[in-house]
Amino acid sequence: MLNDIAENFRKVRDKIEKAAAACGRAPEEVSLLAISKTFPVETISLAVAAGQRLFGENRVQEGESKIPSLDKVPGLEWHLVGHLQSNKAHKAARLFDFVHSVDSAKIAAKLSQSCLETGKRMPVLLQVDLAREPTKSGAEPADIASIMESISTLEGIRVEGLMTIPPYFEDPELARSYFVALRKLRDSLETERPGCLGRRHLSMGMSHDFEIAIQEGATIVRIGTALFGSRT
Ligand SMILES: *Cc1c(COP(=O)(O)O)cnc(C)c1O
Repeated sequence: MLNDIAENFRKVRDKIEKAAAACGRAPEEVSLLAISKTFPVETISLAVAAGQRLFGENRVQEGESKIPSLDKVPGLEWHLVGHLQSNKAHKAARLFDFVHSVDSAKIAAKLSQSCLETGKRMPVLLQVDLAREPTKSGAEPADIASIMESISTLEGIRVEGLMTIPPYFEDPELARSYFVALRKLRDSLETERPGCLGRRHLSMGMSHDFEIAIQEGATIVRIGTALFGSRT
């Protein structure tokens, strides 16, 4: 098991480096976020042993049951990548170091308030719904500028970029247009208000399409299955 996980990380890191190099990007521009949802602390520990430090969970409750048991490991960073509800904002503020899924001014305000109470300023990404799928969360692209405007004074959060989840396609090449759309949205927001997206992150790309996301500018790839195996 340890060998499998270490080997999976080695393979994925290698693919990230090759994909970056092939399009003239430095491999350090792309962070690997290991999505550990549904996997137990023991499995996450194997990933830590393989050198991984950035982990993502999609549910606050699950994070609550796992993150504290690993808080003795120095340098771990926990990212919330799933939908955040108002009533979980306080727990999220306490447990996580980064939130990828801010998709309304209301949840941004709530999270900011909770972060101020917890004494931290949380880096966040705005989740954009480019696919308009009813089951997906995320803000409409047309609403992003006004959400940015209304949350720009919040002191408990710091907007650092955009995140998206394209629809699942058998052929990952079909996800490319969504990655391009997220990059273009970032660039146009930055042109309108320089600096408004902080470190200008693009969180996009999962196990089956991360190489294409890297070609289109991803700075954070969120990978679960290719590292930990399939979820039951
Ligand atoms: C589960 C999940 C991932 C990882 O998906 P894989 O296909 O297993 O790599 C990435 N992002 C989000 C938001 C997720 O919920």
